[in-house]
Amino acid sequence: MREVKKHVVFFQLVVFFIEYRQPVFAMKLTFWGTRGSIPTSLTAEVVREKLVHALMEARGKELRSEVQIRQFVEQKLPFHRTGTYGGNTPCVEIEGPSQNETVLCDGGSGLRAFGVDFFSRPQAKEPHVFHVFMSHLHYDHVQGIPFFGPGYVPVNQIVFHGCHDNMEQGIREQMSTPYFPVTIEEMQSKISFEIHQPGDTFEVAGFKVNTVEQDHPGTSYGYRFDLDGKSAVYSTDAEHRAHDHRKSNPFLDFIEDADILIFDAPYSFNEAGGAKEDWGHSSNITGVDFATRARVKHLVIFHHDPSACDKALYEFHRATKNFLRRRKNTYRPFSGARPEKERAALDESYPEQISLSYDGLILEV
Ligand SMILES: [Zn+2]
Ligand SMILES: [Zn+2]
Repeated sequence: MREVKKHVVFFQLVVFFIEYRQPVFAMKLTFWGTRGSIPTSLTAEVVREKLVHALMEARGKELRSEVQIRQFVEQKLPFHRTGTYGGNTPCVEIEGPSQNETVLCDGGSGLRAFGVDFFSRPQAKEPHVFHVFMSHLHYDHVQGIPFFGPGYVPVNQIVFHGCHDNMEQGIREQMSTPYFPVTIEEMQSKISFEIHQPGDTFEVAGFKVNTVEQDHPGTSYGYRFDLDGKSAVYSTDAEHRAHDHRKSNPFLDFIEDADILIFDAPYSFNEAGGAKEDWGHSSNITGVDFATRARVKHLVIFHHDPSACDKALYEFHRATKNFLRRRKNTYRPFSGARPEKERAALDESYPEQISLSYDGLILEV
């Protein structure tokens, strides 16, 4: 009898766990667009080359069943052979505690892909508020807005957040003659614009949000989202100059102790400080340096060069991780800059992880 009772209690506990379990993450990030400057697509020739290389690697392997083939593809071939980093321009979704509100960073062509996916979710049946945080108004960050399907549903609401005074004008004008046949009024959802000041702190959809001004032609803004002791920073289109490596700067304070740092790095260190200086972007090496100094756990490289093929991006990722590995053995703090914090960073060897973002990447913290 006692044995039966034990089983009943166990069964009740399992039911309770399934029914009432909370999500195991504070926030979930989905990368819908990670390419910078202009959307890119794979050509037939590139796809054919991926196939040829995969088949060459498969020679002599035992690949009779679909299971064996899938295992081989997933475990034995590198990412750039089996997939692609993608070609949509910037858009990152951040899911938090609210069921009827979603945070999005930028409205690049990835916003369209998010909209298509959103329609397949249960929440799409209810009125929804989309908070879109705009880094700035360059084409690659706004071009998905006219194609954002949920924006055409009257019960929905879009709130654009940004720090540029002309944000509303810029977004309205790209949806006007002769640039686009549908005006923003015809989108039908309720659309509003909230202008924040750099350095502002406010609450949106359950997140505490901080803003920072960034060095970029026309200025850009970065956003930090904090929730339940977890944090993610979205910082794209930001140039950090060579001298920023040798001193404290407000950006380091902004990203300090972040769990995830989405960092604009389409260039190598030499490109960023040489031929592409003043183009408004940073390097992978700067990303590693800042992540180490500010104790960032996970550095996520973002805003990829549109001329970089999948193999080049794969090698760029590998070179970035190699740089971190070498540096962990030799790192010395820069003199005079945040000495006590530099020591902490040295001891704990941040960042713990470096990813190269791709369209479809999902991260949870
Ligand atoms: Zn950009
Ligand atoms: Zn830009």
